[in-house]
Amino acid sequence: MTRVVLATRNDHKVTELRAILAEVCEELGLEIVGAAEFPGAPDVVEDEVTFEGNARLKAQALAAHTGLPALADDSGLAVDVLGGAPGIFSARWAGRHGDDRANLELLLAQVADVRDEHRAAAFVCAAVLALPDGTVRATEGRMPGVLAREARGANGFGYDPVLVVEGDTRHAAELSPEEKNAISHRGKAFRAMVPHLRELLG
Ligand code: IMP
Repeated sequence: MTRVVLATRNDHKVTELRAILAEVCEELGLEIVGAAEFPGAPDVVEDEVTFEGNARLKAQALAAHTGLPALADDSGLAVDVLGGAPGIFSARWAGRHGDDRANLELLLAQVADVRDEHRAAAFVCAAVLALPDGTVRATEGRMPGVLAREARGANGFGYDPVLVVEGDTRHAAELSPEEKNAISHRGKAFRAMVPHLRELLG
């Protein structure tokens, strides 16, 4: 059994990723474990300026620390009319890290005068696989939609209440976790990682 370590201490993400990668893990005899199982893993300063760059920093640091293949992701909301912002600043757009309500309220205020046809946006996720020998593979997934005018829905987190899902009338926060996983940026990025896992760990 080869262990693959995931660069997160969030149990929810470990469970979600195990479900997304269940088939390939079975096929290749891989076991996904969280970074919490490796005390002393370094807290990485995410000072790159792209999702992929920051995911690479996290994956490489963890691969070096554990001697195991490591997976990391970095994600955010990219609004077209804002040139891709909030982007890598999504979690702290209003100034305080993780204040979801303040972040989305500031964003809606900033684009209040923008007409509906110019409100395209997407959740974007970069996933990176890093091996201890320095090999790196990166993938990307996008969940497109339109920026709403008001928050709606109680599921999810972050900007989920203000993204109207493409091809749907619901906001992302109105989808069940299963519905969101099936179309989410994170799901797409990690499903795109499957061929790389086969190539490098098969
Ligand atoms: P992280 O990559 O999990 O650290 O996410 C960075 C930030 O991007 C989060 O704090 C949210 O503000 C935003 N974000 C990323 N993914 C999602 C999502 O699926 N829904 C809503 N917001 C998201």
